[in-house]
Amino acid sequence: MSSQSFAVIGTPGQPWGDAERTLWRSQQPRKRSYADEVLVPIDALGAGLEVLRYGELDYAPEVYPLLAFKSRDWRDSLPSVLVTGGVHGYETSGVHGALRFVERHAADYAGRVNLLIAPCVSPWAYERVHRWNPLALDPNRSFRDAGSTAEAAALIGLIAPLREQFVLHIDLHETTDSDETEFRPALAARDGKARQSGEIPDGFYLVGDSEKPELDFQQAVIEAVARVTHIAPADAHGRLIGAQILSPGVIAYPVKKLGLCAGVTDARYTTTTEVYPDSPRATAQQCNQAQATAVCAAIDFVLRAQPTTRPVQASELV
Ligand SMILES: [Zn+2]
Repeated sequence: MSSQSFAVIGTPGQPWGDAERTLWRSQQPRKRSYADEVLVPIDALGAGLEVLRYGELDYAPEVYPLLAFKSRDWRDSLPSVLVTGGVHGYETSGVHGALRFVERHAADYAGRVNLLIAPCVSPWAYERVHRWNPLALDPNRSFRDAGSTAEAAALIGLIAPLREQFVLHIDLHETTDSDETEFRPALAARDGKARQSGEIPDGFYLVGDSEKPELDFQQAVIEAVARVTHIAPADAHGRLIGAQILSPGVIAYPVKKLGLCAGVTDARYTTTTEVYPDSPRATAQQCNQAQATAVCAAIDFVLRAQPTTRPVQASELV
């Protein structure tokens, strides 16, 4: 769908109301199957990890079950890791990178970390290859309080009993050419604002939390992913997607203030991956591999930084 089709919804300068949102929704055909592409693989990958149904999204006539993987032997003494994908449903490698991590790498971490993995947070948008949910809301601006979208609320509910335990959260995203051609124009039209154009970086980058950037951690992930795909260079202004570069391939936002999924826990280490799938230098397989590699590198860093051996009790020394 071209940006032109968004420009004709609504009145320039006026935010959308219900009629405009309904019209927009009617223009979003289903392009792929969450059941076939996500639920079937989840079923096949269940071994070793428990598969939890943590909610469902009732977008009549469609109902989307929400599934997550959880370590069967969850132990409070181990560092806990949250992996999320598909908060933006169109960002395909976020979903399939999370599944690839489960398939190929999760077993390596059994008994070393607790894993909670929600591979496709926004399935309606996965099927439409879109950024928003059916109410024309961006789930990745809705992770505040109890969550202002159903997608965020369900994930917040899933992690609530474990929230204090997370040491690491990695949220898997993409930056795409359609951000510039489709989603930024749609956002401007929806909010009745002037469109702001920008550049799309060619390559992988990370978005940390500006409140706690943890640059050694971010750099460890960048170094691992650089062996799989290229890292986005700075633009002509020395920035990436308009933000100051903190270290090569790393920028940061105030993630909690923005209501980003990356702020959903209080984990010390948090990052958002941004794979660039439209690069002529990256295949879909490479994008999935970059996501899974980022998850492994992030966990490996945390394991190095946080020895899991329990402290010796004074009573054992006498
Ligand atoms: Zn995204």
